[in-house]
Amino acid sequence: MLLLVLVVAMVISACTSDKGNNGKSQQGDKINVVTTIAQIAEPLSIIGGDKVEVTSLMGPGVDPHLYNATQGDIKKLESSDAVFYSGLHLEANMTKVFEEIGKSKPVLGIGDSIAADQLLKDEGGAIDPHIWFDIDLWQQALENATSKLKQMSAENADYFEANKEKYFEELQKLKNESKEKLSQIPKDKRILVTAHDAFGYFGRLQDVEVVGLQGLSTEDEIGLTDIEDTIKIILDHKVPAVFIESSINPASINAVIEGAKKQGLDIKLGGELFSDAMGEEGTPEGTYIGMYRHNVETIYKALSE
Ligand code: ZN
Repeated sequence: MLLLVLVVAMVISACTSDKGNNGKSQQGDKINVVTTIAQIAEPLSIIGGDKVEVTSLMGPGVDPHLYNATQGDIKKLESSDAVFYSGLHLEANMTKVFEEIGKSKPVLGIGDSIAADQLLKDEGGAIDPHIWFDIDLWQQALENATSKLKQMSAENADYFEANKEKYFEELQKLKNESKEKLSQIPKDKRILVTAHDAFGYFGRLQDVEVVGLQGLSTEDEIGLTDIEDTIKIILDHKVPAVFIESSINPASINAVIEGAKKQGLDIKLGGELFSDAMGEEGTPEGTYIGMYRHNVETIYKALSE
């Protein structure tokens, strides 16, 4: 980490000359934004339209809890005009990098200012960082990013606002449509078993009970009792399916399926959900709305059979 900080400091000293104090590049007319996760990048590319160039560092299948910035990332962060990350300790290994980069330009954790009473915590008091699964909370976070864009480019403020309002209408449609769909699953079968605790906000918004094998972060240990406790819940409720996540090794979920089989319950794999990473760019699942819809459809199909 020390070496990384040194690299960051060196790159900063080499590149600060062409930036203004407000962080907006003096060259070119697009604001160059870098984000950590694509759940921020893709919506911002819609809100920013042709005035903003957005790049996300973490692609499909990448786990943000464990992610370390590469030298290539540092270069992208350094040549950007602003950096947006999710925050609430999601990008746990990038704190030092954000501090260094934040000395020369706006670096904003877009979820960090969400009111504490709207956030979920685990038994140990750790805040659940997976706020993109509560569509209303994610709107708040995107609102924070939009405000920063408006500050950086006041002449385009109305344009950003109009794009944002249109996009937020789509998000509200997504919310209503997904609630409607999931409410059709019988209440006693509306139990979502996944590899780690990424779906707490999803469960709260959609009235779905969630069981994660691993804790809020993939850094947490996974124990035999976690697997046994989960199998017990599945047997008690005759849960028809469990789910793997695109950014997590499926071994623990497969262990649950095997364990349940040994105890006489033939539980199926309900499919792959996008939890901490989205799908490939250029596919429906590579967009926030498409990713959310994929999850809702996959859960609906597997649990309502
Ligand atoms: Zn996670």
